[in-house]
Amino acid sequence: MEETFETNEPPRQIVQAGLGTTPDRGILQSVWFEIPGNCDLDCPYCFCASGGLDNDPENVAGVGTYEWKPYEEFIFKPLAKQIRDWNDASPEERVERFGCPPENAKTDEPVRGKIAIPGAGEPFHPKNRELALSLIRSANSLGLHMTVFTTGHWIDESLAAELAPLDVVLLVKRNSARKEVQNKLAGMSPNHTFFDRREAALKTLMAAGFNKPFGEPGSPAYQKTRMGVVTSIMKENLDELEGLLRFARENNIIFDCDTILERGRAGECQQRLTDKTTELGFRKLQHLDRDLYGRSWEISATYVGTACDRYRHHLYIDKRGTIHPCVGCIADEEHGIKAIDLGNIKEDTHALMDAWNAPVMRKAIRPWNYEGPCSECTLPDKGVCFSCLGRFRDCTVELNRESTGPIPSIGCWNQTVKPK
Ligand code: SF4
Ligand code: SF4
Ligand code: SF4
Repeated sequence: MEETFETNEPPRQIVQAGLGTTPDRGILQSVWFEIPGNCDLDCPYCFCASGGLDNDPENVAGVGTYEWKPYEEFIFKPLAKQIRDWNDASPEERVERFGCPPENAKTDEPVRGKIAIPGAGEPFHPKNRELALSLIRSANSLGLHMTVFTTGHWIDESLAAELAPLDVVLLVKRNSARKEVQNKLAGMSPNHTFFDRREAALKTLMAAGFNKPFGEPGSPAYQKTRMGVVTSIMKENLDELEGLLRFARENNIIFDCDTILERGRAGECQQRLTDKTTELGFRKLQHLDRDLYGRSWEISATYVGTACDRYRHHLYIDKRGTIHPCVGCIADEEHGIKAIDLGNIKEDTHALMDAWNAPVMRKAIRPWNYEGPCSECTLPDKGVCFSCLGRFRDCTVELNRESTGPIPSIGCWNQTVKPK
């Protein structure tokens, strides 16, 4: 097989579709977008403070019967077109027209656009379910790969059967394998039905084959598995993270574990850990993964097993259509954090690509133009960490669409300073 691009980055596990393994091609390759925030849980770490029913008239989906067309028109189609144009271009054109680094301009197979519905509201809540299904089908029809973050507890056999033929990865909330703890971490009473329904859904999804390979090996649609479990490292689940990882590894399930993003309710969340405890927790998982499963990866301060590389291929769209560089750049006025606002997709088919090419993206975020502790750290050069726009950027410093950087950083416990 022809060598496509060289990289000095260490091997990583794929945590979510492409995270940590997506090279810089000069183009937007992944978009997360929120749908209405309907959710019957009340997680103390919810970054978007969802809960209850969402009747916000400003939502992209509208009110009453939700519309999926605006998402197709203003997100999926512009993203799919740009990816198609890049795939159709020669390697030279990819460098000249799209600003692709020359070493990443050749590929063995076409680049695929990736989109995801984050858990900012529950996608399979009865009020969101039809919208979510329509969005997955629309994305698939345009050749985009879809990931959905879900609480799992609304997934029954009939929904699993509807989802099974679609190109979709389901990342299911699993903070704990203990009923009382899990229900507490979902903001529910100890005997609430959430835990039992979520555990049943995991079994249903496995029975429907979600943890088996999907598609033809070698084809762009191929997935080793279409199922993951998601959690943050927290006080209440610290002592069982190894068990959660083992469950995932032994069942061919993605293990998506991060640190709490301090936005929304998570700003006051009592489940947050000290840096030292987080580090010890991550190290235990690192050793377990290496010793039992032969997977080696370097520690970063955000995700288990990988580094967030979204700064070079990603945008995030909130439920009202406002575009941000990533989820860490949404506003949290209660905690004095201002959004990085790149425009709004509503009624504007150019808004998404204009956001990608805005000065703050082209000159500060995409070229990784940082100052402060992160710029003195060796880990970005090694591909082990690229700071985090939500955690290790100085969020008190306002950045807007026209900012050109450098981005002030505050660093983290994992900083490794270059020798003088
Ligand atoms: S984190 Fe997800 S499941 Fe929990 S309250 Fe927020 S939207 Fe609902
Ligand atoms: S930079 Fe941080 S907040 Fe943004 S997507 Fe990556 S891990 Fe999340
Ligand atoms: S100091 Fe910055 S770049 Fe270095 S490990 Fe911490 S967050 Fe990452």
